[in-house]
Amino acid sequence: MSKPHPQIDAAVFDLDGTLFLGKTLIKGALETVAALRKSGVKTLYLTNAGTRTRQGVADKLAAMGFPTNANEVYCGSYILARYILDKHAGKTVFPVGEPGLSEELRRNGIGVDESGKDCDIVAVCLDRTLTYDKLGRAHVLLRKGALFLATNKDHIFPTETGTMPGAGAIVAALEFSSERTPYVVGKPNPMAFELMKAEHGIDCGRAVMVGDRLDTDIAFARNCGMKSALVLTGNSKKADIGDLKPDFVLDSIADFLKKIR
Ligand SMILES: [Mg+2]
Repeated sequence: MSKPHPQIDAAVFDLDGTLFLGKTLIKGALETVAALRKSGVKTLYLTNAGTRTRQGVADKLAAMGFPTNANEVYCGSYILARYILDKHAGKTVFPVGEPGLSEELRRNGIGVDESGKDCDIVAVCLDRTLTYDKLGRAHVLLRKGALFLATNKDHIFPTETGTMPGAGAIVAALEFSSERTPYVVGKPNPMAFELMKAEHGIDCGRAVMVGDRLDTDIAFARNCGMKSALVLTGNSKKADIGDLKPDFVLDSIADFLKKIR
């Protein structure tokens, strides 16, 4: 049987800065993903963002025009839930995050206590509802020895109007005050690839990671042995490319089918 594509069976797409910026689609994103799906290339989505559930991300993608099943989405909240189930089952989590984080943890059967009383784990992701009180509760738990987990340490995230402080800025505040270091489950940690392999049978040698950040997306691809494509529509610029070289550099996702063939 002929392969759907000469080089790849699967394409894993980062979201912000790769397929869209905030609410604005990047030109060519819909057409590229649709053409790959039509040809039989598996398309998966990998984002460090932990503000939504896996289903919530799939719904957002579908509303933007990317028909998506929840099981094709690997987002920070889901990766974190799977890590806790695997390594720290039975423990209770104090979430520093938006409602989507707590909901994803609960959907996976993980105990969540927003009061922070007697929690064993502090789990941090981007939180646009952050208050000093929440930060304080997390700080107290960390000083008492709670496990410190984070979806990612992205310092910023791109929006249509420029950058905003990322989850890493919140993690940094807690690292500084508690003098603790978190375990980070999102990219470049290759953990999500293990989940993709188990759930979709992805072969790393025939999969490409497409993203806009060298330190997360391209580093993730290297850590998993995947091919990598950097798009120049988000965080990293061509001049930023150093020792960590992507296999492909695309002005934008619109060039994917022209350059990767
Ligand atoms: Mg991105």
